[in-house]
Amino acid sequence: MAVLDLEQLVDLKVRDQLTAANGTVEGLIRQALDRQLTQMIGELVEAELETRANGKQVPATPATKVCKTCRRDLPVTAFEKHRGTCRECRRDQARSRDRRPAASGPDLTAEKEPPRPGDQAS
Ligand SMILES: [Zn+2]
Repeated sequence: MAVLDLEQLVDLKVRDQLTAANGTVEGLIRQALDRQLTQMIGELVEAELETRANGKQVPATPATKVCKTCRRDLPVTAFEKHRGTCRECRRDQARSRDRRPAASGPDLTAEKEPPRPGDQAS
């Protein structure tokens, strides 16, 4: 049953294509050839464009750099000159440096030394 359905479907499709190709097998073949040639030409043009682009693109110096901190491959514009750490990481580092003294302030050390029950007993 399923095979018959498929055959019918193929038959219909072929008939459709024949209609599109002015009802002739020649037209159908020409159409198929056209499609194949267009694809082949497209691939050739693409390959040619790629080789030309590659010839131009090979850069003397890489336009990217790996950040020492986040290990991301970033464009050199994301770094300050002669820095191995990107601007973003440097900003984060500066921010956490600013925060640290405030977080471990004198209040925290005071809380760490509460009066001990043992000390009070003696
Ligand atoms: Zn980074």
